Amino acid sequence: MESYDLDHILTHLGENREQYFNAISPPVIQSSNFAFSDLHEFREAFSDELSHHVYTRGNNPTVEILRKKLAALEKTEDALVFSSGVGAIAAAVLGNVKAGDHIICQNAPYSWTKALLRNLLPRFGVEHSFVDATDIQAIEEAVKENTTLLFLESPNTMTFDIQDLAACSALAKKHGITTVIDNSYSSPIFQNPSDFGIDIMVHSGTKYLNGHSDVVFGVLCASKKMVKKLFDSELMTLGGILAPHDAALVIRGLRTLPLRIDRSDKSANYLISKLESHPKVEKIWYPFHHSFPQQELAMKQMRGCGGLFSVQFKTDSMEKMEAFIHRIKRFLMAVSWGGHESLMIPTIGFYNIPGKQNPPMPYTFVRFYIGLEDPNWLWEDLEQALTEL
Ligand SMILES: *Cc1c(COP(=O)(O)O)cnc(C)c1O
Repeated sequence: MESYDLDHILTHLGENREQYFNAISPPVIQSSNFAFSDLHEFREAFSDELSHHVYTRGNNPTVEILRKKLAALEKTEDALVFSSGVGAIAAAVLGNVKAGDHIICQNAPYSWTKALLRNLLPRFGVEHSFVDATDIQAIEEAVKENTTLLFLESPNTMTFDIQDLAACSALAKKHGITTVIDNSYSSPIFQNPSDFGIDIMVHSGTKYLNGHSDVVFGVLCASKKMVKKLFDSELMTLGGILAPHDAALVIRGLRTLPLRIDRSDKSANYLISKLESHPKVEKIWYPFHHSFPQQELAMKQMRGCGGLFSVQFKTDSMEKMEAFIHRIKRFLMAVSWGGHESLMIPTIGFYNIPGKQNPPMPYTFVRFYIGLEDPNWLWEDLEQALTEL
């Protein structure tokens, strides 16, 4: 591939404007199927449904523009998009295992990734080990004769544990193991795992890639050969595709990806600088923070962190913690992240849910996502709420 030209990728790549009246924005090709002018065309299209337009479950011109941009962003040959991040993760995993195989996964992945390995795959005879993948030795020790897949998520999105991507890739290659990484936290702007030899990059595109909290989607980026394999099996048979209209929204979202993530990154760093000196703050989790145990490795393989970080506050009263959370008005209390709006997930919200166990995290732990608002405006809010703690 040519040199990495972010501006070209986001502004031009995949957009053949002369095909649609030189319109600046690509049209939403809202069509389920495509006609052929003769049998020659018909046969040619059916020889390769991934690169021709036959039926929108397989390929659609609007979706294809998005696929090309995402593949280029992750420095891979091709990409497939799905109706959710979980759909992309499931396709990458299912397409690379069969009954009798074994998967190694870092021990704190996204909850539904964990559920896929723990609850669904055992029904089809696929086993797994969750390992502390911050330790390459632990991964090596978990390798078995039937290990075919190593699933990474670096950083993950609560405590931001990091895996050494170059070391993981080298180890996997030695044992003939395919590597998959959930790269949602960093986005392709701050980390390209293919630089370190990782085979498949998956993203919850719901987060930074779309970035406006209005589309749920997923992508996997890999070699042409891998993408063709997963297209022929998981995408076409399970059919969890992205609709053309959603693809157009994501193309629009991507135009500002570098600006958005840069703003979130700078604002998160500003808020951390305020929080770290506050007497009510016990600990901060952020990969580039000086207190982070893997800061050096993070800085080696990432170019930035973005807007997600976690804080443990100092209090021994659940009532005070609840009052503090309720005083925060400018952060929405909600799951997800990567959009325009600042968010928080207070662990205390998972306490005392009828029929559920309390989580292992202390109730003083809060994950924040910093969106595009003025960081001073956000700090004013946190500062006034902290008076309650
Ligand atoms: C949100 C998320 C997912 C799931 O993506 P959906 O688009 O919600 O299916 C997977 N991995 C990570 C790290 C996430 O944050």
